[in-house]
Amino acid sequence: MGSLFQKIVCRDCGNEMPPDLTRVRCTQCGSKWLNAIYDYKTTAQLWPQAVKERDADLWRYEELLPTRGEHITMGEGWTPLVRAYKLQRELGLSHVFIKDERQSPTGSFKDRQGALVVNIIRQQGINECVLASTGNKAAAYAAYCAKADIRLWIFLTSMVPNEKLRELALYGAEVVKIAGTYEQAKKIAHDFAKRRNLYYDAGIAGIPGREGLKTIAFEIAEQLSRHFPLENGKWCVPDWYIQAVSGGIGPIAIRSGFYQLLQAGLIDRMPKLGLIQVEGCSPMVTAWERDWEEAEAITPRTRITVLATGDPGVGYKILRAACKEDGGTMIAVSDGEAFRAMRRLARTEGISMEPAAAVAFAGLEKLTQEGYIDPDEIVVVNCSGHTFPAEKHILEDQYVLDLELGEQNIAPSVSPATQIEEGLGAALERLDEQVTTIVVIDDNPHDSRLIRRLLQSHKNYRVFEANNPIDGLDLVRHRKPDMIVMDLTMPDMDGFNMLNALKSDPETANIPVMVISAKTLSPNDRERLSKAHSIWQKGNFNTRELVDRVVEVLGNDQIDSEVSQTVQVVSSVDLELPKRPDRKRVLVVDDNRRDARLVKRILEANQNYTVYESYSAQEALDALHEVGPQLLILDLLLPDAPGEALLDEIRSIPDYENIPVIVFTAKSLNDAENDFFRDRNVPIWKKGELDRQELVRNIDKMINR
Ligand SMILES: [Zn+2]
Repeated sequence: MGSLFQKIVCRDCGNEMPPDLTRVRCTQCGSKWLNAIYDYKTTAQLWPQAVKERDADLWRYEELLPTRGEHITMGEGWTPLVRAYKLQRELGLSHVFIKDERQSPTGSFKDRQGALVVNIIRQQGINECVLASTGNKAAAYAAYCAKADIRLWIFLTSMVPNEKLRELALYGAEVVKIAGTYEQAKKIAHDFAKRRNLYYDAGIAGIPGREGLKTIAFEIAEQLSRHFPLENGKWCVPDWYIQAVSGGIGPIAIRSGFYQLLQAGLIDRMPKLGLIQVEGCSPMVTAWERDWEEAEAITPRTRITVLATGDPGVGYKILRAACKEDGGTMIAVSDGEAFRAMRRLARTEGISMEPAAAVAFAGLEKLTQEGYIDPDEIVVVNCSGHTFPAEKHILEDQYVLDLELGEQNIAPSVSPATQIEEGLGAALERLDEQVTTIVVIDDNPHDSRLIRRLLQSHKNYRVFEANNPIDGLDLVRHRKPDMIVMDLTMPDMDGFNMLNALKSDPETANIPVMVISAKTLSPNDRERLSKAHSIWQKGNFNTRELVDRVVEVLGNDQIDSEVSQTVQVVSSVDLELPKRPDRKRVLVVDDNRRDARLVKRILEANQNYTVYESYSAQEALDALHEVGPQLLILDLLLPDAPGEALLDEIRSIPDYENIPVIVFTAKSLNDAENDFFRDRNVPIWKKGELDRQELVRNIDKMINR
């Protein structure tokens, strides 16, 4: 029948909004906590019969999912609900079931979240995503993003085991390791996404993630009904649903699934939640035992990293209310109890699980011993996952970026909060350098290593080497580097053809290429290399010169500081000069910072211009008032508005009716688009075919008209 997604309702103020998943905040109160609402009545009439005929994955519940149309899938959902006969006998219980989420595509229940989120952002045209994770969510997102061609940046704490990091790198994700807490990793990830205008995963607050996870509740009810058929056509609900808790998104989402079934009349009561934390990180349990309304953040001390969320935030409040309403509870178990439960489940039920899942089983044991669970009650435990270690030798070096929150340079008089803030800021600056990526392609490993060492001895860049053109092209397409340094004479494909291949692929056409060659070049050779950024003769250049050129091309801060130093020296002589009154002001609007910087460098090099950068339409509109630009250089693919719309909006402002505009884009325009700009007298410059001198000449002409 398709999705019966009807509307979005704000959890905090009850405001109703249309079912638009690009909305992240309540239009009335600004709350980020929004719930999806469906047509439950139609669902209730349809489901008991209809779902039986459908595929064994979570998409069988399409009426209560917020997405339509084609989706990518790896068969997520519909994991087995296994009766644990030996375990229930050992515990003196009658009905213990294990929801075996290990049998998900990446081995954890977070695949449901990953599948929904990635499908929805893919439908929105997003192709780059940032998230912070304690582990399992990262693996799920990495796998689905790989399948959906979405570039993924994952920020993890250094507590996450290397096996996990390798698994993520294997999926092609960019992995950034933060030497700090999960909360700090989240903050850095968030700022990183903001600086680069990338989609940031909202985690617990986002609708798609929760709507994916809730399908566990649907499955449990449908599957239990095969064991305990009810006469009135309703589905069976467990008395207890038990799960380990970190930030709380899992149990919150799963409870919402049961709640939707209750609203549809498909079940007649709610299960009690048994929420288990690990003692070294149990802020929710502490608050629950003391009957606090809010949980206090703590610093995690547990070896079970997947559960190491020290600040439960809003998650606790929601789960507390749920436990009070339905009769659930929160308890803590030790790392040791969890590891013992892990061994017991492997030996008795043949289930090898991750330590985080074992926490739930240790919790089951404790809840039984302490008399919470009656012998006849039906219990379902979420076996949330297990891990697959990835083999180290199949990955390149540097599969992970190490980011230290160096606080040692900050004066001790600064308050701790400011210290952390400044530490994060400095770390982000360093990260900009660290994520700057260079691919070196040279069939002589000795030479490529030399170039790599040379670059890395001066800058903290990431440098990848390939020793033949095929691997080189593969590496370039996968890593999308900021620069390529390339040999000319190689087996299989020579540098000329390689350069052509790179320049004719729109994905790689804009990456600057430096050619380093042992061959003496004829004028004809040079002609064929005209699309290269620069050509260097092996054995014929000063190494420092090469590094300087790389740094310059990559738009490094060192260049900026040289510029500002020059200004300072001059300004002591003439106080008017810093304002550069004789310089024309140009505003570059481009969400690709490297492109914006490239234009800035070209124009500022000729001393006549001061160039300001904006990375989105909104920033550009803000900048108009601050900068008062005399010319605009506009990319068409902006994150928040089409360039055409921005152009018309700017020219509708009285002071800017006649502002000269140049379009600078990687996009190929169709006839209608070409006409649009011709009508407005706007020339179009293709990013791949930039002729610097001509650009400057044209701008001179346009601005002095
Ligand atoms: Zn609201």
